[in-house]
This record gives sequence, structure tokens and C-alpha cells, in this order.
Amino acid sequence: MADEAASTVITGRCYCGATKISATQVPQTIAYCHCTDCRRVTGAPVAAFAAFDETAVTFSPDEGRKVVANPGVMRTFCAICGSPLAGRYEYLPGQVYVAVGVLDQANELAPQLHAHDSQRLQWLHIDDDLERFPNTSRSRLTDAAASLGKRSRKASRNRA
Ligand SMILES: [Zn+2]
Ligand SMILES: [Zn+2]
Repeated sequence: MADEAASTVITGRCYCGATKISATQVPQTIAYCHCTDCRRVTGAPVAAFAAFDETAVTFSPDEGRKVVANPGVMRTFCAICGSPLAGRYEYLPGQVYVAVGVLDQANELAPQLHAHDSQRLQWLHIDDDLERFPNTSRSRLTDAAASLGKRSRKASRNRA
């Protein structure tokens, strides 16, 4: 069995340090989300989330407080300090969306798209050429997971 620490490529922690995060794979995709829910969850004018295969991410000691305010969407927060940790969406099975701001490598994790751009705050101007989805970017997010799955299956065939 591979040494888990050696295969960790992404690390993070909440504000108070009680919750640690580690991931054994790089994110499948990284997205800004301008929706009002993500704004309230993070308290920031825009949220950014890194999508991971949920089997690749470990929260220790655990994922903290679980909150379901809308059916099918579970948000998690450090049980001590309340830092937003992750979102899980029934319509995006197998993925966990970790808040980019709690990751140690955030500077290298540039978003690739804007989701829910129609809800963007009018005074917030992010000058980039990224694709902007007026509403959900669900199709792009699930495509990214599917193509990554194909790539890693191919890679494991090549190793075999
Ligand atoms: Zn904390
Ligand atoms: Zn959102």
C-alpha cells in the first residue's frame, strides 16, 4: 500500500487549524461561483471551489458541521471556527467541491470558469478571458470529471 503522506499533492486547513485537508490528486476543475448561496456560505463577494474526486480528499479529524439549507446540496464547515470547507451536490455525484481559499496551494489553483455569472455582484470586475456561464456550469463540471476518469483509466492501462 502506498504511503499516504507521500502521495498527498494538495493540503489545506481551516482558519483555526482544527480541520486539516489533504488530497492525493490535483483538482478535476476549478471554478468561481457567483451564486448568492456561495456568497453567503463564504462571506466573500465571490467563491471559488476546486472539484475533486471525493475518494481523493481526506478531512481530518472529519468534515465538521454539515448543513443542508437547500435539498440536494450539503455544505460543510469546521466545527470549531466555521470556515467553509466543502460542498457536495446530488447532481454532481462522486465529486466534492473544496473552497480554494482554505487550500495551501491556492496561488497555483487558478479558476478555469465562472459559474452563475448572472448573479455576479455588479461592482465586482474580474478581468479575464475565462468562459462565463450565466447559470450552472454543471455540464462542464461533469464533463471534466468524465474526461479525467478516462485519462486516468488510460494511464493505469499504460502502466499495466
Ligand atoms: Zn477551524
Ligand atoms: Zn454557487
